[in-house]
Amino acid sequence: MSVLVYTESENGKFKKSAFEVASYATEVAKQLGTTATAVSFNTSENEVLGDYGISKVLHIADDSLKTFNAKGYAQALAQAVKQEGATTVIVSSSADTKFMAPLLAASLNAGYVPNVVAAPEATSPFTVKRTAFSNKGFAHTQIHTDHKVIGVSNNAFGIVENKTTLTIEDFSVATDDTTFTTKSVDIDKVIGKATIADADIVVSAGRGLKGPENWGMVEELADVLGAATACSKPVSDLGWRPHGEHVGQTGKPVASNLYIAIGISGAIQHLAGVSSSKTKVVINTDPEAPFFKAADYGIVGDAFDVVPELIEKLKEF
Ligand code: FAD
Repeated sequence: MSVLVYTESENGKFKKSAFEVASYATEVAKQLGTTATAVSFNTSENEVLGDYGISKVLHIADDSLKTFNAKGYAQALAQAVKQEGATTVIVSSSADTKFMAPLLAASLNAGYVPNVVAAPEATSPFTVKRTAFSNKGFAHTQIHTDHKVIGVSNNAFGIVENKTTLTIEDFSVATDDTTFTTKSVDIDKVIGKATIADADIVVSAGRGLKGPENWGMVEELADVLGAATACSKPVSDLGWRPHGEHVGQTGKPVASNLYIAIGISGAIQHLAGVSSSKTKVVINTDPEAPFFKAADYGIVGDAFDVVPELIEKLKEF
């Protein structure tokens, strides 16, 4: 009875969240007195999972599962759960897994808790701490079903090194065309840029920047810091930036180590999606902007003066 963990990858490379969920699964396995087994899809990097306490990898090399497919991946994981006799499944809280995990949980009759931010508080009954009320509070949630699916928030538990001897097994799954109600056949992606979900640092800007022609300095700051770029909802609604960059309650959640908000007022719906970030820096001309109340560091100033100066200073390092 091992703990099973789904390790996300893209184009054959593990995402950063894979190492965090692997670390989390290792902790859960320790608490339950068992070992952690990872399931990976179409990657040649499996050995690295041994650095995070994983003792076995079930590797699925299947062309029909080359791109993420919620139904197909849920079925594959359910088959792995059955083979391993696992009762606890650990996943990330990414948008993809939030789509897939409920399907997996339903097929296992499992209780599913996403947005978990700490190691289990107890294993009997199984109790986890998760964010609640749009990140304004925490809930301590018990799961009473035999099977459990736990979704771990990005950057909440952290990556913990724990070198372990690892075995890798090929795992074949039974999928056919009826498995897929929808299927992504191709994904267009900006290569070489950090994604909001995986980035350690996110540089985000709002309507205070006046227009899309002023995003050059936001991108330059992001480049200097190796950060992802993001924006507030009105900015993407106005077509200044792509919708994929919109963060907040109705956009992508951000749980980065550093979130820099430029010309963003800090409306409750924006804060709901970014409050899990560890350190928040706000640049705003209005000292009364609500974002300052949620900020760790604040600069009252004009973005058009502050950001270029910040870029120059950072380039000196
Ligand atoms: P504004 O509110 O216009 O703020 C601009 C800020 O820039 C101001 O604080 C101003 O002082 C500052 N500024 C102006 N000039 C400068 C300058 N030169 N230098 C520095 N600062 C400057 N919003 C989201 O972001 N994400 C969501 O997910 C989201 N979901 C929503 C869901 C619902 C149901 C609703 C009703 C709203 C939602 N909103 C969301 C919208 C939200 O309420 C705010 O309207 C929005 O976040 C404001 O965006 P903003 O801060 O970019 O713009």
